[in-house]
Amino acid sequence: MILLGAHFSIAGGLHKAVFSASEYGCTALQIFTKNASTWKERRLSAHDVKQFDVARIQTGIRWICSHAAYLINLASPDRHKYDKSVKALEHELVRSSQLSIPYVIMHPGSHMGAGEDKGLRRISKGINKVFDHVPEATCQLVLETTAGQGSNLGYTFEQLAAISDMVKAKERVGFCLDTCHVFAAGYDLRTKTAYQETMQAFERVIGLDRLRVIHLNDTKKGLGSRIDRHEHIGKGAIGIDAFSFILNDPQLKALPKIIETPKKKGPIDYDRMNLNRLRSLIEW
Ligand SMILES: [Zn+2]
Repeated sequence: MILLGAHFSIAGGLHKAVFSASEYGCTALQIFTKNASTWKERRLSAHDVKQFDVARIQTGIRWICSHAAYLINLASPDRHKYDKSVKALEHELVRSSQLSIPYVIMHPGSHMGAGEDKGLRRISKGINKVFDHVPEATCQLVLETTAGQGSNLGYTFEQLAAISDMVKAKERVGFCLDTCHVFAAGYDLRTKTAYQETMQAFERVIGLDRLRVIHLNDTKKGLGSRIDRHEHIGKGAIGIDAFSFILNDPQLKALPKIIETPKKKGPIDYDRMNLNRLRSLIEW
């Protein structure tokens, strides 16, 4: 069975996302464990956790990850923002552990003009601090490849490896490859050769054994644009072939694949459209 899913909303309760995923025939799911665009924390009650567990059992959805809030920036040169980010990430790791979610995905951070090397060092320092503060967190922190928009770090595999190299507890760090982001960062995926070169670079610099999840998104912008604009599968600058390469790559067969494509409300159910498009590409 292939692990294929989408990001679903937790409006109405965390368990709602699990049932949404099930309705769409998903076998994997990504959620925010709180409102992702505010600093406000969410404390889970025993009831929240119970409902979530029950939903997981009822639907049979085995693979779930969470995505950390967008405001978190461990590379921030602003001490106040940095401290806030450390705290927020600690909360996220604890909350996800309470929900038995094994992976928390995070964009590494933005250096905000302080410089890339400084930013990478700050991120690692922040991760070390967070891990020290929450030894009880059982989930892995999964660093996502980014498009490199603005001063965002993590747009090269080397940058992600550099962060991990400076983290003490490397076994608590994993990686997420986002097709839209790597393409925007300049890694081509459109032909079989280009795709293989990109994956070989990932293997060489980071290692496929440390890859935990793949985000499947097409993009509105071109190769190397450094702009992060997700598009429906096969409708953007990446095109449909790349998704076929990924879905049929034996090296990636066991890895969960999640879409984060646009969800505009209207007569077309875009999640269903994108998921079905991906399912039609699977050759085994
Ligand atoms: Zn992503």
